[in-house]
Formats: sequence, C-alpha cells, structure tokens
Amino acid sequence: MTSCSGAEVRGVPAKFDAVLALGTNIGDRVANIEDAIDRLGADGVVKVVARSRLYRTAPWGVTDQDWFVNACVGVQTALSPHELLRRCQAVENDMGRVRVQHWGPRIIDVDILTFGKRQICEPDLVVPHPLIAERAFVLVPLRDIAPDFSIGGQTLDAMLSELNAEDVVPVGS
Ligand code: ATP
Ligand code: CA
Ligand code: CA
Repeated sequence: MTSCSGAEVRGVPAKFDAVLALGTNIGDRVANIEDAIDRLGADGVVKVVARSRLYRTAPWGVTDQDWFVNACVGVQTALSPHELLRRCQAVENDMGRVRVQHWGPRIIDVDILTFGKRQICEPDLVVPHPLIAERAFVLVPLRDIAPDFSIGGQTLDAMLSELNAEDVVPVGS
C-alpha cells in the first residue's frame, strides 16, 4: 500500500473515533467476524459502538479464491492510530492469520478505513484506506453505519455507481 490521496473524509458519525473493515474467507466466516468483533472489544480499550450487517461477497483482486464475509464497525477508542493498527493485527494474529499471498485467503483481515479526519501516510499505515472507493465489499457495509460518508467529495452512491455491487449481499438473503 503506497498511495496516499489526501482526500477528505466527511459524513462519518462523530461518535466514531475510527471505522474498521473486517473480512474473512476461510472456515466459518460468520463466526470469524463475530469472534474478531468480540476480540476487538474484549477489554474495553476499543469499544464497538456500531456494526454493519454481514455481507457475503465475491473475492476482489485475487478472484480465484473462495467467497468472503465482510463487515464494517464504528469504534470508540483513546488509542492512537498506530496503537489501533497493532490491536487489529493482534486480533488477526491471535485468530491464526498466516500471510501467504497478497490479497489471498485469510481467516481474518481487520483494516482501518478512517480515523476521525486524520490523513496518515506512513509506510505501515495509510488512512483513509486508499482502496475504499474501489471496493463494493467495503462501501456497502460502510453505508449501514455511515450513510452520509464521502471521500474527496464522492458519496457512497457515486462510488458504488462505478462498481459492480451485485456480489455483495447480506448473509442469509
Ligand atoms: P489491503 O490493505 O489492500 O486491503 P490486505 O488487507 O490484504 O490489503 P495486509 O496483508 O492485511 O493487506 O496488510 C499489509 C500491511 O498494510 C500491514 O502490515 C499494515 O501495516 C499496512 N496498512 C497500511 N495501511 C493500513 C490500514 N489503513 N489498515 C490496516 N493495515 C494497513
Ligand atoms: Ca484488507
Ligand atoms: Ca489488512
């Protein structure tokens, strides 16, 4: 991840300090998302205050792999962005994530989409996440918890109109 757009984020509810995106395509995907959300909030240092529905989604980037379940959550925390990143990575590691292939199969992925209005462009952390606008599997769950979200003046609907969101459907529907 190298690009850093500087695009301004608007429309995230003020009660969220950060917004996270979760994804999984190995094993019991719904259970993995629930487990990750529980782990994120386990000690109260990160408080999950809103969560999207869970979506079954087609793989993106590396398409010859199994389908995913994706979700977004809004969190409150006094952690710094890098501390929050380490938390997300600790949840991934504790759940047994093994990095084999870039964008390949994973038991859990937890990304920071936004952190307030912060623009962070460092080798290990780019915020807002630079691929938000390219990914229906992020935008559709994000709409559940931040319907007024925009980035660089582009609304969710504007971004989604450029993408194929047919393969992002609520789990169970
Ligand atoms: P993508 O970031 O395109 O969704 P990925 O989630 O599969 O890809 P990972 O292998 O999980 O990529 O992470 C690679 C690195 O991305 C991490 O080591 C982390 O330091 C870095 N990174 C940069 N910005 C972020 C961010 N906003 N959230 C999470 N990780 C980030
Ligand atoms: Ca990711
Ligand atoms: Ca990641």
